[in-house]
Amino acid sequence: MTRLLTCKRFLQELTDYLDETLDPEVRSELQRHVNECPNCWVICNTTEKTLKVFKGMEAKPVPEAIQKRLLDALEKRIAERGPICEKKPQA
Ligand SMILES: [Zn+2]
Repeated sequence: MTRLLTCKRFLQELTDYLDETLDPEVRSELQRHVNECPNCWVICNTTEKTLKVFKGMEAKPVPEAIQKRLLDALEKRIAERGPICEKKPQA
């Protein structure tokens, strides 16, 4: 089996690969490399997830459930320790 593609080359093409703007032929070469090379697989996977998160954030605001959870946590904190931004009144 010949490895035409090097890790360096892969990294250079990675963003295009994830953007799916690549030539199908190059893309399948990169795909093959990811399947064979654990290092690049990890990098590809991590970058892909990060990009998805960013794209998701652009497309829609923070989901209500998460907002509510944050608010609940904040309210709980305030109830326990008083408002974050204000000093506790001196006793
Ligand atoms: Zn590699």
